[in-house]
Amino acid sequence: MILFFEPVYKEKIWGGEYWGISAHPNGQSIIKNGKYKGKTLGELWEEHRELFGGITGEKFPLLIKTIDANKDLSVQVHPGDEYAKVHENGELGKTECWYILDCKADGDLIYGINANNKRELDEMIDRGQWDKLLRNISIKKGDFLYIPSGTVHALKAGTLVLEIQQNSDTTYRLYDYNRRDENGNLRELHIEKSKDVIEIPSVNKKITPEVTELDNMTRTRFIESPYFTVERYEVKGKVNLKNNHPFMLMSVTEGGGVLDIDGERHPITKGDYFMLSSDVNKFILEGNISIIVSYV
Ligand code: ZN
Repeated sequence: MILFFEPVYKEKIWGGEYWGISAHPNGQSIIKNGKYKGKTLGELWEEHRELFGGITGEKFPLLIKTIDANKDLSVQVHPGDEYAKVHENGELGKTECWYILDCKADGDLIYGINANNKRELDEMIDRGQWDKLLRNISIKKGDFLYIPSGTVHALKAGTLVLEIQQNSDTTYRLYDYNRRDENGNLRELHIEKSKDVIEIPSVNKKITPEVTELDNMTRTRFIESPYFTVERYEVKGKVNLKNNHPFMLMSVTEGGGVLDIDGERHPITKGDYFMLSSDVNKFILEGNISIIVSYV
């Protein structure tokens, strides 16, 4: 079956986040259609594991959100699974990736650091040599960045991204541009934990996507990682597809059309988030539409 989700909006001082597909207790997606209407994704994961191909695991593995940055976000890093388990009450670590939905003409963001070893890293942090430490890269619409745990990163003002990540909400704030809130307070930083988890040297992996041309569709595979695989389907016309995965998570990023499952036709449009459960073996996409597809 197809399950449409109601996004959870979270206002932030720097903009906002739409948690599109989430089973995290800090913001659960609610099913909008069908016989499970009104249930949360977390409830379905607990009670109907068959919808997810019966895969094991205590927590639903992924979280998908759209992040709208009106201001520069604080510079941050996420722990890996092992560190988070010990230091964050059994939370998962967080490896994530970004698909750039929109950005300024001269858009950029922070991705990685310039330190070559731990001593250099600690020194630059302690001396506040942020310009020297933080690596800036330019971005454009449609770019994809893989951000393994331990990678320092930050979005800048004017960037809209789709984030696909492990189901975790653990973030260590390394630097916040010394900004003060309306009460004159600095935001809390997590310097020691950041130092513990930052990977040296930084990944500098330019993703070379694998592009496959099908009839009426271009499929771009951005990443195949231990945590998730992410692809883009660009459909123009009608295309018959198969689902060989326990479940498929989809986020419509452009255009609109129809998703047909055994003759049951579901209109889909930009901004929709939905899941195809394990029982959907084949489906048809029709229209002029771009979808980011994620699965484990
Ligand atoms: Zn992050």
